[in-house]
Amino acid sequence: MIEAFRWLHRHPELAMEERETTAFIRSMLQEHGIRMLDTGLETGLIAAVGSGKGPVVALRADIDALPVCEQTGLAYASQRHGVMHACGHDFHAATMLGAALLLKAREAALPGTVKVIFQPAEEVNQGAIKMIATGLLDDVGLFFTSHSYPWYPAGTIGVRPGPVMASADHFRASIIGKGCHAGHPDLGIDPIPALAAVITNAQSIVSRSVNPFDCAVVSITRVSAGNTWNVTPDAAELEGTVRAMSDGVRDDIQRRLERLVRDTASAHGCETDFDYERGPSPVVNDADACRRAAELARELGLRVEQNPPSMGAEDFSFYLKKAPGAFIRVGTGGGYDNHHPRFIADPAALLPAARFFAALAERELNRLARM
Ligand SMILES: [Zn+2]
Ligand SMILES: [Zn+2]
Repeated sequence: MIEAFRWLHRHPELAMEERETTAFIRSMLQEHGIRMLDTGLETGLIAAVGSGKGPVVALRADIDALPVCEQTGLAYASQRHGVMHACGHDFHAATMLGAALLLKAREAALPGTVKVIFQPAEEVNQGAIKMIATGLLDDVGLFFTSHSYPWYPAGTIGVRPGPVMASADHFRASIIGKGCHAGHPDLGIDPIPALAAVITNAQSIVSRSVNPFDCAVVSITRVSAGNTWNVTPDAAELEGTVRAMSDGVRDDIQRRLERLVRDTASAHGCETDFDYERGPSPVVNDADACRRAAELARELGLRVEQNPPSMGAEDFSFYLKKAPGAFIRVGTGGGYDNHHPRFIADPAALLPAARFFAALAERELNRLARM
């Protein structure tokens, strides 16, 4: 597992480009006689361990890296300049490879099948949709995934029932006025005061219309207008993200934001082009699955924490729309956050995590088989 982890860390590939990563995982699985399902996808794969009959539990690992320039100084640092496994997806892939091998050794005793998903393109929120679209996961009764967590040491599992990660939507707006000589504003329609008003007004959405006990974020992250000092531009643009911990709050914010941008711009005499692109939904963990996972982790001698929720997002939520399950944190130490150029996952966390996920899948299969 440690060798696999180091190989993956040295050879990171960006989302939708995980060809060598997929070939590497495939050869490891083949070497151990593990069956793979035909996904028809260029990157990523699904392994299957078990009888092929009875209930199905899925373990998911994501496998893509990030456009980050590594600064860890590790002996097994990235050999691809500007690309790095800075989110620990190399750790996830190695963990689930280990779990697949452990399950393979127990295959005759499994009362069903464990599908191990090696998913591409998590960082761009496209991989889960592709995996689900293969139809090969339609029979899954429970989904579990791991995510590296630098704020707990190796040997720690973080489980939290209910919403744990936010939805992540992307909006863009063009505010269209009429350009003119900057000395004669009366001859045009200036989109810049409209843009400024939109930025200020947008901050009232969370503070004035979201229930204070709900969590949400509206961030405007890019604005642009004009290209010189003495010309009023034709149009101004803004872009940003909406995050929420429930689909209801998310829907309300989408409606309110669109109206606020349109009406604010209109009050300034401008037209609006508004585009709202929905990303992944919030990740909502099944409370019972979390309780059972925490019990098992304690039995295996792991430390169990109730990790805080995060306004980050994860496309694991697409699986949880199909069947219940849990997004589980695995302590990987290191002290630098995910996506940081100094992010390091402690290899000591690998074996306990693989044992935990293999045991979890087997126990859940047995539970489903009894139902
Ligand atoms: Zn990430
Ligand atoms: Zn990640």
